[in-house]
Amino acid sequence: MYQEKLLLIPGPTPVHPRIVHSLSQPIVSHVSPPMVKDLKEALVNLKEIVFCDRGEAFIVAGAGTLAMEMALLNTVKQDERFLVLSQGFFGQRMADIGESFGIAHDVLQSPWGEVVRPEQLEEQLAAHDYAAVVSTHVDTATGACAPVKAYADILKGSDSLYVIDGVCATGGIEERMTEWGVDVILTAAQKCFGTPPGLAILVLSEAAMAKRQGMGSIPAYYSDLLRWLPIMKDPAKYFSTPCVNEIRAFAEACRIVLEEGMEERFVRHHRIALAFRTALEALGFQSFTHTENLSDTLSVMAYPGGVEDAAFRSTLAEKGVIVAGGLGEVAGKVFRMGHMGNLSFAQVEFAVAALEDTLTELGYAFEPRAGLAAAKKALFE
Ligand SMILES: *Cc1c(COP(=O)(O)O)cnc(C)c1O
Repeated sequence: MYQEKLLLIPGPTPVHPRIVHSLSQPIVSHVSPPMVKDLKEALVNLKEIVFCDRGEAFIVAGAGTLAMEMALLNTVKQDERFLVLSQGFFGQRMADIGESFGIAHDVLQSPWGEVVRPEQLEEQLAAHDYAAVVSTHVDTATGACAPVKAYADILKGSDSLYVIDGVCATGGIEERMTEWGVDVILTAAQKCFGTPPGLAILVLSEAAMAKRQGMGSIPAYYSDLLRWLPIMKDPAKYFSTPCVNEIRAFAEACRIVLEEGMEERFVRHHRIALAFRTALEALGFQSFTHTENLSDTLSVMAYPGGVEDAAFRSTLAEKGVIVAGGLGEVAGKVFRMGHMGNLSFAQVEFAVAALEDTLTELGYAFEPRAGLAAAKKALFE
């Protein structure tokens, strides 16, 4: 019999039955009333989810990396310069995209597990001019959550646009676009929205849209937001065939987010993060990410002595829970656990029980039920 595993990796995340149901609807025309209604509704709801009062939302077939490319090409001209604030893996990807298109850039890189300090951004801005500053909200390799509000405060007085890569954060951790003065939030379907992979998602402020309008032609065609703008305003128009079912499923995902309520959703993510981390610490694991930089969507945990990475992850998988290995220099020393999207408390308890069973099977000694007790405390007290 097919046994579904609980996917606790940094995306894709578990897909709620309501979202699976909308994916399985019979195909409709990409310009038909049901599709027009769902895309329009998703665009409005998406802006609400990122607290954007004024601006434009875009939902296009692709993934997070396409959203990164679109964000860059539509806000930074070929002869301008941008700054990347990187606390791990995906900041470097943004720099690589700049490299591919010949757009000059600088990178401020923090040590792994930490973040670029706001003062470093301030110093960099005092010495250089940037058309845009790009920062990763939560880095998927290190689990470090950047102080995006503090960066935004610093950038308020500057001419730079502020772009947030929210792929591992948007819809799970607070991002108040208009109030904070963020110009672009880019994300993807398969992380905090709990939809299968397949969408590049962006919200641009009025200032970011004005920048694009003034740029003329850019080195992009499918990625040119001005080609997509008429479709986002009126989805009955055609530019390139959208992935109908995936977009309708994303519309359902946005409904689920707003039905829960943003504040409630942030609190649930926080409780679940705390539950997993306190449980794992009670079992002898340690957070790889520095305490001040922990994220509510993802934890990177270092193994205690005597627990071997491959055996741990494969035994845990047999017990129904999939987690990810470490990347780069910490491969084999840590595992990465995603806990974002539409996770229920029951799923958290199931996962912690599976973690304890795994450690027992591997012959690792710990106080029985210490993990479960810690998790329950974080979830219910
Ligand atoms: C997953 C992720 C990406 C890449 O998204 P893809 O959909 O895999 O292209 C980019 N940035 C961050 C922060 C991510 O977590």
